[in-house]
Amino acid sequence: MISKYFTAMLMPVLTAFTLPVFAQNTGITEHEGGGAYPLIVNDAAHPCITQQQYEMIEKRVAQNIRLLKPDTRQKKTTTTLFSWPLRPAAGLADCSYYYIGNYVDEDPTSPGIKDYNCGAVTYDGHRGTDICTAPYPFLKMDNNQVEAIAAAPGTIVDKQEGHFDKNCAFNTDTANYIIIQHADGSCALYWHFKKNSVTTKLIGQTVGLGEYLGVCGSSGSSTAPHLHFEVWASILSSSLRDPWAGTCNSLGGATWWAAQKPYTEPAVIKAQVNNILAVLPTCPATETPNEDSCFAAGSTAKFFFFLRNETIGDTVHERIVNPGGSTFTSWTHNSITSYLASYWYFNKVLPVIPGVYTYETIYNGITCSKNFVVECGLLGEPAITSQEQVMVYPNPVTNIVTIAVNDIEPGIYKLSLNNIVGQEVLTDKVQADHNSFQKDFSLASMPAGIYFLSIESDKTRMVRKIIKD
Ligand SMILES: [Zn+2]
Repeated sequence: MISKYFTAMLMPVLTAFTLPVFAQNTGITEHEGGGAYPLIVNDAAHPCITQQQYEMIEKRVAQNIRLLKPDTRQKKTTTTLFSWPLRPAAGLADCSYYYIGNYVDEDPTSPGIKDYNCGAVTYDGHRGTDICTAPYPFLKMDNNQVEAIAAAPGTIVDKQEGHFDKNCAFNTDTANYIIIQHADGSCALYWHFKKNSVTTKLIGQTVGLGEYLGVCGSSGSSTAPHLHFEVWASILSSSLRDPWAGTCNSLGGATWWAAQKPYTEPAVIKAQVNNILAVLPTCPATETPNEDSCFAAGSTAKFFFFLRNETIGDTVHERIVNPGGSTFTSWTHNSITSYLASYWYFNKVLPVIPGVYTYETIYNGITCSKNFVVECGLLGEPAITSQEQVMVYPNPVTNIVTIAVNDIEPGIYKLSLNNIVGQEVLTDKVQADHNSFQKDFSLASMPAGIYFLSIESDKTRMVRKIIKD
């Protein structure tokens, strides 16, 4: 259960930024933190389903099928082909939501392990495919964000509901689960559901392809929310099949998938931008992503990405994209270790020009993006009242705009005006001999639209929105 359970769950609090990173730098940047995502994989001593539970399931399924009228046992006239047994719930906008924690163990010896691809993504005696939700699996569970669905149509031949669903360690609890028998007599087991999420359909009722079955949870012997998906050729546990076709599949050979996914799927699962660190507490507390979409101009933000199948030697390319599409800054992350799931975060100084920016991550040819706003208030709010330190009037303006700045320290101030895509269209310097200055700009020749005025000294920066009619 906890064999691959990676150490401290609470992300380290940064005590020092050893690599101050400034805007417009391009190149390789050391990450500020990260590593293996706190994993959730059961192990040999702590199987997803115990031997006693297998015996219980067999008895229940056999009895349920006897009781069903008419007899739902069907002739093996068709071949069962599976679609993917999970889907993101409506509203989950992440780039992906899962990784595979364990395949079926094809090695009959103990403690030997071997998955269908002759790799070691399994544990001794494992009989299913563990599809883990990520990142934030408990948050996803709380919010019903990842649903198990029928990978193939069939009849419900067993289900249980109402069991505790926030397990973090091996136990002998019964899981919330459902077993579907297909037209060819084979069965699929869907295990570890969230409490009270299992479909209200009854044993004996049919489910269609893709029909909702339950929410990914951590009921039964489980260390965090995941789906254990197991295939039998009949109603006997001894008829176990491995649905993945590969060199080391000795349990049936041909694929059961309508479209078998590759053995690994390196990808960015989620990109996010934060003012403060995300919190990954110890199981079973719900995680706190602390994801933000609004940031102060010129502040330092934390750029997170979460990976599936990070592979040693690979490179993740990241950049902050200006409102107009050009690159504000870019950097890379070079993988020196392989992980089933991992995360990294970087501190970056944000642009000073208000606008909608994009955090873009590219891994394995796939782009995962997240938009964020510098100076939300300026983008959303009307400008300037007369009591402020900076007065801009008239605003909106058609011709001459006056900028009056009060209560400042004497010194040199740089004034710059940027358009909505971040291009600098005007710039000037003002020497403030006292605690204020005033400056006029002509915007007569400028196109109508939104502009941002930046007033900057070596000690301060103020930004105001100007609307040109
Ligand atoms: Zn499992």
